[in-house]
Amino acid sequence: MAEVFELRPAFDWRGLGEIPWSGLRLKDEYAGFDAERRFGVRDERVPDSQSCECAAIVRGQKHPRACKLFGSVRTPDHPIGACMVSSEGACAAYYSYGRHREGAGRAAA
Ligand code: SF4
Repeated sequence: MAEVFELRPAFDWRGLGEIPWSGLRLKDEYAGFDAERRFGVRDERVPDSQSCECAAIVRGQKHPRACKLFGSVRTPDHPIGACMVSSEGACAAYYSYGRHREGAGRAAA
């Protein structure tokens, strides 16, 4: 890791904002493998929907069920926020493993 990567001066984490020295990038010696440099990938910021509770969920301040869109309007097949788009996102994982269903935990016990 230390041979190939170096710290970025800052990185903008969804829901957390910009945190200094919290992300990695490829060192100049490995620029040929860096898709950001090779393909001119830009850092585009896309604001979350105002209805999305992702920021509070990734901070552990709210539960996925606290989002009024969770499991009804918004599912992994019809996501709106990063927490549901990514398979490892909190909302998608919670939805996929069925804990959002009423009584699911009790039925297995
Ligand atoms: S269910 Fe969707 S809209 Fe609601 S917090 Fe999760 S990602 Fe955001």
